[in-house]
Parts: sequence; C-alpha cells; structure tokens
Amino acid sequence: MTQTIAKYPDPILREKANPVERITTEILDLAEGMIRMMIESDGVGLAANQVGSRERIFVINTTPHEDKPTPIVMINPVIIDQEGSTSEAEGCLSFPELYITIERADRVNLHAKNTFNETIVYETTGLLARAVQHEIDHLNGVLIIDHVTTDEDKENMEQWQKNMQQKAET
Ligand SMILES: [Zn+2]
Repeated sequence: MTQTIAKYPDPILREKANPVERITTEILDLAEGMIRMMIESDGVGLAANQVGSRERIFVINTTPHEDKPTPIVMINPVIIDQEGSTSEAEGCLSFPELYITIERADRVNLHAKNTFNETIVYETTGLLARAVQHEIDHLNGVLIIDHVTTDEDKENMEQWQKNMQQKAET
C-alpha cells in the first residue's frame, strides 16, 4: 500500500483488481489503511488500486464531514441488480478538482464480504448507490473520464489533463 493516493495517469488506476481469496491480516491492514486515507482526504470512497493494491476491495463513507464516520468495507463486491437512472456531478480522489456529470443507476443491490468473512447483501440508493458504482468501476479499471458525455465536461477534462501535464513538467 502506498502512502499517497494514486493520481491519474498512474497506470495502476487502469488495472483490474483480483478477487480476494482469503481475508488475511494483510487484507485487514489494507482495509484499515484505506479507511484512514479516505477519511483524511474527506473522500466518500476509495478503491484498492488507488493505493497501489490489486485486491478487490473498496471502502465507503457517505458522511465524510461528520465527527463519527461509519465506514463500510466491501470485499469482492458483486452487483445483483440495479434500476432507475440519475445524473449528478461526481468527483474522484485520483482527479483532484475535476467533476464529471455521470448518469448512473438510482438503486443498486449488491453483495460483498465484510472483514469478518460474512457475505452481506446491501440495498443502496442515493449517494451510497452512486459511490458503490464509482468504486466498482475503479476495481475494473474504469474512471470518471470514461463517462464524459457533454462538451462542457470534455473541455474540463482536457483542461485538467493539460494542467496536470504542466505540473509534471515544472
Ligand atoms: Zn474515484
């Protein structure tokens, strides 16, 4: 696990994560570290590839600005069904200050393992449903810029990439 969150175009962000076979101490340490980094960054979610790991894990916290966060760890998440659609501007810790309007399912049912190796079924809506879809995208190497549909977002994305390149050169 890295100490900083990978920023685009770090190639790890394009890698597909592998299913976790056993919940070992390493996996628990990884999850704990991911929760810490997510909370420190005021993020709603963080996927393992964003911290340099190829394990199929993400963490979510839909109340980033509250004193008592209630983070959820999802291991080997699988969407069971989804319905509806809703469009909202979405950010990502790997793309600081870039927001892309993304259409996603409104309700998502999924199952995932928790850190006690129990399979839990989650029925999600709203911000949680959006976050789950965003994080599962990460585990498949899919990023917010792959969801650009409007000219305005395309311009913002190109401008963001230019700024990043300039930063890298100086
Ligand atoms: Zn993200």
